[in-house]
Amino acid sequence: MIELTGVHKSFGSIEVLRGVDLSAKAGTVTVILGPSGSGKSTLLRCINHLEKVDRGTVRVDGELIGYRQNGNRLHELSERQILKQRARIGFVFQNFNLFPHLTALQNVAEAQISALRRTTSQAYEKAHELLELVDLWDRAGAYPRQLSGGQQQRVAIARALALDPKLILFDEPTSALDPELVGEVLDVLRDLAARGTTMIVVTHEIGFAREAADTVVFMDDGRIVERGRPDQVLDNPQHERTRAFLSKVL
Ligand code: ATP
Ligand code: MG
Repeated sequence: MIELTGVHKSFGSIEVLRGVDLSAKAGTVTVILGPSGSGKSTLLRCINHLEKVDRGTVRVDGELIGYRQNGNRLHELSERQILKQRARIGFVFQNFNLFPHLTALQNVAEAQISALRRTTSQAYEKAHELLELVDLWDRAGAYPRQLSGGQQQRVAIARALALDPKLILFDEPTSALDPELVGEVLDVLRDLAARGTTMIVVTHEIGFAREAADTVVFMDDGRIVERGRPDQVLDNPQHERTRAFLSKVL
């Protein structure tokens, strides 16, 4: 269960998030749509405390992210505690962000050893399983530069899964890919959704939203303007801004 309440975030004088409330149950897929600059990436980054919120709270499985509460006061956690929380919140970026000097297998194994203190053999065993899940067991020894964009992104997804995350955040996971490679990554996302992985996905792939999302959220100008089941938001949007946006991407 994810719960954001009254999340505000400014950069200098620009208020990028203007009071976002969002909740999602375990095992559900939330797709976030919205125009460029509406605050989607910032919102994801606030969920795992890569950005500190100015106001509001983020909870994952009831646990406050980035802070501990003492009466009415919030105290920021130590860097070590934050890293520990962050390790259980997967993040998949637009540009894959694999370690270039590590093979696919090592990329998936590394954080298990450093963050979860698994033994090397446990980590490699799990990495093999996950590369199989994303259909890349045969490329385990390849370095990122030897892989296509779609393959790199599938390794990045396996790496996120390796830490047994409570949820995975995806920030436009297919938008850096050549069109013919988008499908293989969306297939993996659909597969994860079907297995009950809790996911928040920023994407412009409306077809994916329609099939895989439990909830579609439309953001504009730092606020959630509209939310609902995919058919409600995509086929019968209530707000002019949602309609205008959908007419451009559909
Ligand atoms: P896109 O669809 O283009 O990825 P987005 O909805 O993800 O857009 P954000 O990246 O969250 O939008 O950015 C929202 C606003 O916050 C933008 O105006 C952006 O310039 C600004 N912004 C984001 N990060 C920072 C930062 N670190 N410092 C200053 N401004 C920032
Ligand atoms: Mg973004």
